[in-house]
Amino acid sequence: MAKILIVEDNALNIKLFCDLLAAHGHQPEAVTDSRNALEVARTFVPDLVITDIQLPHVSGFELIRLLRSDEHLADVPIMAVTAYSGRGDEERIREAGAQAYVSKPISVVKFAQTVDALLRGESDSEPESAGEAPNGAT
Ligand code: MN
Repeated sequence: MAKILIVEDNALNIKLFCDLLAAHGHQPEAVTDSRNALEVARTFVPDLVITDIQLPHVSGFELIRLLRSDEHLADVPIMAVTAYSGRGDEERIREAGAQAYVSKPISVVKFAQTVDALLRGESDSEPESAGEAPNGAT
């Protein structure tokens, strides 16, 4: 079981992500208002942060940089989830400090595989366009 912080302004996505993570035995915590995300992260101390990029107030890019600048949260893996599809956007997301990127609408399999990889300490360094994720479980 891992503690996973979700920062997402869309209620349907929050429900989907929380249900998926709970089904995999994890403990999700959702934040709707990104202005509260850093404070909640400091209290919750997540094993993984999943953040939307297109967020009102504090964007996902800003949040990633804030997390990376926090002495206690700098090493927590970050998975960005966004409707952006351009290769340039993916590079910007990784340069900001996220370890992985999953595009919306999400593939449930890709989402779960990426969460598992990050919790194992692996970085999803392959661009999504490269094709199938390696060693998929059954
Ligand atoms: Mn959004």
